[in-house]
Amino acid sequence: MDNCLFCKIARGEIPSKIVYHDECTVVFADVNPKAPVHLLAIPRAHYAAIHEVPASEMGMIQRLFAAVSTVVASENLVDEGYRLVVNFGENSGQAVPHIHVHILGGRAMQWPPG
Ligand code: 5GP
Ligand code: ZN
Repeated sequence: MDNCLFCKIARGEIPSKIVYHDECTVVFADVNPKAPVHLLAIPRAHYAAIHEVPASEMGMIQRLFAAVSTVVASENLVDEGYRLVVNFGENSGQAVPHIHVHILGGRAMQWPPG
């Protein structure tokens, strides 16, 4: 998508600190981190939400979580634990309408989230 911030990051048109990439997925540092480790994992394909992905393309979500699994290990988050967050729509506070998994770690978190 031409005008999407995260599509531009995936294409390298907007600089970001990329920690992992493959042909389907990019993982990069959140510009405004909410935890000592705050990464965003995105599929290269543009969809605003999980529920918009056709069943025939759900392999991209498998690839996305495979990348998350790789990154939580490489960022040393496994022993202390981490949180994954996926927002959609107004009630969630989603700001960027391109699927992204927040990977948060490096501190204790509260539950329930706000
Ligand atoms: P959302 O609220 O949509 O779930 O999360 C969007 C996230 O994208 C926020 O945590 C925000 O800090 C991050 N973000 C917004 N603009 C940029 C940017 O230009 N670069 C990077 N790396 N992160 C961004
Ligand atoms: Zn996009």
